[in-house]
Amino acid sequence: MRATRALVHLDILKANISAIKKRVGENTRLCLPIKADAYGHGAVRVAVAGIRAGVSYLAVASIQEGAELRSSGIVAPILLLSLPIPEELNDIVASSLTPLVADIDFARQLSQAAGKQGERVGVHLKIDTGMGRIGCRPEASLELARSVAALPALTIEGCSTHLAVADSLEPSDLAYTEGQLDRFDEAVAAIREAGIDPGIIHAANSGAVVLHPRASYDMVRPGLLVYGYQPVPSRSQLVQTRPVMELETKIVFIKKLREGETVSYGRSWTAPSDTLIATLPIGYADGLPRSLSGRHQVLIRDRLYPLVGRICMDQCMVNLGPQSELERWERVVIFGPDPRGASADDVAQALGTIPYEISCGVNRRVPRVYIE
Ligand SMILES: *Cc1c(COP(=O)(O)O)cnc(C)c1O
Repeated sequence: MRATRALVHLDILKANISAIKKRVGENTRLCLPIKADAYGHGAVRVAVAGIRAGVSYLAVASIQEGAELRSSGIVAPILLLSLPIPEELNDIVASSLTPLVADIDFARQLSQAAGKQGERVGVHLKIDTGMGRIGCRPEASLELARSVAALPALTIEGCSTHLAVADSLEPSDLAYTEGQLDRFDEAVAAIREAGIDPGIIHAANSGAVVLHPRASYDMVRPGLLVYGYQPVPSRSQLVQTRPVMELETKIVFIKKLREGETVSYGRSWTAPSDTLIATLPIGYADGLPRSLSGRHQVLIRDRLYPLVGRICMDQCMVNLGPQSELERWERVVIFGPDPRGASADDVAQALGTIPYEISCGVNRRVPRVYIE
């Protein structure tokens, strides 16, 4: 196996899930978003570890993601968070996925497809209370519920909404989230009053798990927190989690550079004095963003060393200083849970992005190694 690997600490994942369960309480179920290959961690292994840790629902974005889980033998309910196109309806039924339903037209087509296969499909109604993405308007939710309840091959198993600014402490954002939850409560109450069972009520992403206990309802859908990153860094004490992914590599070459000599494409870095340069077999094609050139420090043993020069497609360089006892083949941590080194969140912050993009960006050619 190559030196560059993504260690996936399933023990940390399980501890993170326990911390979330403690926060939301015994009676709230956990839905684990494992879209985008579990945010880059590997969907099947994360799903199995999550279920063992007490997760009751999984969530994916595409039918293919759901089908892959089914073919690996996973039987837990799988929510489909994004809307499919009509050609995919048969596959939803065949893979026993649980889609979100946002309009009557789609619900009818789905019911027909299910009926033809002699199956029933459980669905969750999606109510748009202010995300502006998918979902029916709150005032249309009762009519949608009535129509879906009347369809022969569909069963309403849940009602959900999605929050746009649940991770923000800005007073106007806190108020916006409260408004979203008020509209959601009203819509669900109307469905109940009409004698229709709304099923499992859920709204909370990671931000809401931390900041809006009111949004926990019957089930929460935190992704980021499960993978160990904080949606609201200043409130990290509320649900303590650690990063699950550790991106590591090894030093494959060490050489001495003389003062004035340069490193990598574009010669953007010049040795200010004689120094030792280590080469690492990891580059932007592995998911180490090129824009991180000159803006990152790696952890070797217990010290940080700066990346120097441009990050190449498959390799990058580290300045070890004028003298070093470090040797070739030494382990190098790019990011991970060790507090002495950077996390994917630190990388994201250096680049003005979010940790989701960093963990999802670790390329498929980087083998995932699972630590139980
Ligand atoms: C991705 C997703 C989540 C999880 O969001 P996090 O910010 O990772 O907690 C929850 N709900 C929906 C609908 C999503 O698409």
